[in-house]
Amino acid sequence: MNTADYPVELTPPDITPYAPGNTGIPYVWTYDSGQPGPHVAVTAVVHGNEPCGAIALDWLFRNNVRPVQGKLSLAFINIAAYHAFDAADPNASRWVDEDFNRLWSPDVLDDPDRKLTVELARAREIRPWLDSVDLLLDIHSMQHKTEPLTIAGPLQKGRALARDVGTPAVVVSDRGHAEGVRMRDYTAFADPASQRNALLVECGQHWEAPAADIALDTALAFLAATATIPRDFADTHRPLPKPDSMRFYEVSGPVTIQTDDFRFAQDWRGFEHLPQGTLIGHDGAEEIRAPHSTTVLIMPSARLWPGKTAVRLAQPVDAA
Ligand SMILES: [Zn+2]
Repeated sequence: MNTADYPVELTPPDITPYAPGNTGIPYVWTYDSGQPGPHVAVTAVVHGNEPCGAIALDWLFRNNVRPVQGKLSLAFINIAAYHAFDAADPNASRWVDEDFNRLWSPDVLDDPDRKLTVELARAREIRPWLDSVDLLLDIHSMQHKTEPLTIAGPLQKGRALARDVGTPAVVVSDRGHAEGVRMRDYTAFADPASQRNALLVECGQHWEAPAADIALDTALAFLAATATIPRDFADTHRPLPKPDSMRFYEVSGPVTIQTDDFRFAQDWRGFEHLPQGTLIGHDGAEEIRAPHSTTVLIMPSARLWPGKTAVRLAQPVDAA
């Protein structure tokens, strides 16, 4: 991958002061208001090369943001990958051994024969804590510089929570990746009968300066929407973001790469709106064409390896 595509404008903060945690799990902190209410969590650096979430959490820690009801957790996730970040080769530290965000099915987490990678060990370490989280915001960023978006998952409850949070403007419903289950889709988060719920926010390009503000604004909007922070928060801290005029999209499916010869037909960046039939790319001899009357490309990848998602194909839908 061309690592020089985008400049590295963000500086990953030193998170080692947060290493002790207060939960028995390194880098995982939980604050209890003593009042009834949900356990709300904000997570960062599931991918090691996405510093915007770490900057947002660092701000929340430094400003002593505490819950007024229920519990609030702040957690840095893939620590080993984060610490491997090198601004001279910023794509190299997305993970150490494998993608942390594809491990979240009990089949994988419980498999005694599965190779114990850095990421699987960390997933097992945080799992008991995650089992107690009711409402999760997982902060990410994207390879390409496109509009920020919330990944709300496949269920109506995810879209409803995204609408309550009110920012960023774009909400994408999808079923994830053939390669494995994301943390935001773990067990009850993906159960329509459960009240537990999760969002994943993609704050813009990994290293662009605005991604840090988007991350913090989205975290504050999430904490306000879940009544974790008080209404007068803006008076003493930072203005809460105004809700956006929202647009909803639904992914019909990921394009999962089948061959070692996948090529895009153009240098797609994401959010292109294509007429039906437009040639998107080739997977070996197979043509990939736009399936919907308006087909929207979501997060085309530069990691074009068999089994990975090349791009997600979506269409605009009415508000949830
Ligand atoms: Zn990510």
